[in-house]
Amino acid sequence: MRLVLGSRNKKKLKEMVALLGDLPLELTDLTPYPGAPEVDETADTFVGNAILKATQLAPALGTWVIGEDSGLCVPALGGAPGVYSARYAGTHGDDEANNDKLLREMVALTGDARAAYYVSTAVLANPKGEVVAQVEGRCYGTIVSARQGTGGFGYDPLFLVPEYGRTFGELPPEVKAQMSHRAKALAELRPIIERELLGKA
Ligand code: IMP
Repeated sequence: MRLVLGSRNKKKLKEMVALLGDLPLELTDLTPYPGAPEVDETADTFVGNAILKATQLAPALGTWVIGEDSGLCVPALGGAPGVYSARYAGTHGDDEANNDKLLREMVALTGDARAAYYVSTAVLANPKGEVVAQVEGRCYGTIVSARQGTGGFGYDPLFLVPEYGRTFGELPPEVKAQMSHRAKALAELRPIIERELLGKA
C-alpha cells in the first residue's frame, strides 16, 4: 500500500519520514509524480490548506495522501505569521528573511508577549479524494531575540523550548521528533493509517 506525503518542503518531509517511516507501507514524497498539481494554499486556516493539499493530490495521483499544513503563531502579533508562515517576508520558503521579519516585528515585545506556538494540521485523504481524518498538534514555546543554532528549519533557530531552555535550532532532531507539533499530529494519525491502510483492528 502506498502513502504519499503531499509536500515539497524537503526538511518537513524528512521529519515526516522519520515519524512514519517504520510503518509497513510504501511511504513516498512527490518525487515519483513530476506531474503532480501545484496546490494553491488559498485557505485562511491550517486545516483548510491541509484539506486542499490532500483532496487535490489524492485523486490526481490515485493514491492515499497526507496533506500537512503548519506554521508558527504569535498571539501578541494577532496570530501572525500563522498560515502565512512560509511566505511571511514575501518570498515562499525564504526562512532567513522570515526570521529577520519576525525578529523586527517582536523587537519591542518582552516576557509573556514573546510566547508562541507551532501548529501542524495533517489530513489523510483516500485515493478518491475523500477526507478520512484530520488531526492537529501544537507545540508551545517562546521566541528568542537572536538566532540560536542551525538545526531544524524555518523558525526553529528562534523557537525556544521551555522544557530544555534551548531552541529547536540547538536541540537534536530526536528531541524535536518527540515533542513537536508535527510529531503530535502524526502520532494521532498513526492508528488511523494502521486501521484504514493496513487493516489493523
Ligand atoms: P507549509 O509548508 O505551507 O505548511 O509552511 C510551513 C511553514 O511554517 C514553514 O515554511 C516554516 O516557515 C513554518 N514551520 C512549520 N513547521 C515548522 C517547524 O517545525 N519548524 C520551523 N518552522 C516551521
